[in-house]
Amino acid sequence: MSSTTPASREYPLRTTQDPLHLQNIRTCLDLSLECIVSPTAFCVGSTFVLPPPPSPSPSASSSAQPGLLLSTGYSREPPHPTSHAESSALSKLLALSLGDLHSLLASQTPSSWPGSETWSHQDVLERCDVYTTLEPCSVRTSGEPDCARLLARHRVKRVFVGVNEPPDFVQCLGTRVLEEAGVEVWRVEGLEKECLEFARRGRE
Ligand SMILES: [Zn+2]
Repeated sequence: MSSTTPASREYPLRTTQDPLHLQNIRTCLDLSLECIVSPTAFCVGSTFVLPPPPSPSPSASSSAQPGLLLSTGYSREPPHPTSHAESSALSKLLALSLGDLHSLLASQTPSSWPGSETWSHQDVLERCDVYTTLEPCSVRTSGEPDCARLLARHRVKRVFVGVNEPPDFVQCLGTRVLEEAGVEVWRVEGLEKECLEFARRGRE
């Protein structure tokens, strides 16, 4: 379990093999297949999920609750040809009217969130888990805000990544940026190969 990789970008990550998190990464993989491939960019899928409220009896079926899917995104999702998966999903969540947001929160009746009928978008984001097939970017050659700082600025609760970003284009420091901003980053173990293959789709 000790860190033997000398690479300076290696950052101590939390890891999980929880089937629930794996299921959510699979959803992101499916989303990444929607991407128009590009020789100069990855194909990534992302979701924003509100985890179920803590169960009063932890022994009960707490791990069976999938959480509430709030928003989805993928790389270069129309109408923005340069959008990233995480920023697209965030934009769509922020674009929901408060009424639509509350309807969404009330739609999952078996596990409603106490007080959620008055939550703002920010209240939701601070309880939100972000799933993404690839580590959120820390550098954007287009000059647009990078996803790691965007997610940190919106103070999402946790970020679950399928695989670290390989240095195909730039050196990614997304995990470090998020952790230093106080956002927990977890690596979901078990789908790294698929996440990487799907991300490099269209580049042989
Ligand atoms: Zn990004």
